[in-house]
Amino acid sequence: MKEVLKRAGYRVTRQRLVIFEALRGTTSHPTAEEIYNMVKSRLPNISLGTVYRTLELFERLGVLQRLTFEGSPSRFDGNPKPHYHAICLGCGRVLDADEPVPEDIGRRFSEETGFEIVGYKLEFYGYCKECASKRRENENKG
Ligand SMILES: [Zn+2]
Ligand SMILES: [Zn+2]
Repeated sequence: MKEVLKRAGYRVTRQRLVIFEALRGTTSHPTAEEIYNMVKSRLPNISLGTVYRTLELFERLGVLQRLTFEGSPSRFDGNPKPHYHAICLGCGRVLDADEPVPEDIGRRFSEETGFEIVGYKLEFYGYCKECASKRRENENKG
């Protein structure tokens, strides 16, 4: 991370490093506010605005992914490599879906139509293990 910042001409600050570490150390895809709560104890003077700006910087530097889901605030992923996500409709958590990502997805369509693809989205919706078993319990009761 230090190298990435330096190469891009940004100062290496403790704030930036702590926020980056927090993001890399979790797979929970936190929102900016959740990240703020995660780093507050280590950075007592930090504001939510600084967290937002730092995340925007990291996004420009390509060291994180911003995930946007309809009707909820952006979430941030310390893993910038393409991977799929599964969203729980029960508790709202976002899990990494360890499925192979085809590198040439869309290529045929792009070649045939001249459509220049810059990204795509594939998300799984459903219920995480805990929510699925709660739902089964409720069904059995009712
Ligand atoms: Zn759930
Ligand atoms: Zn992820």
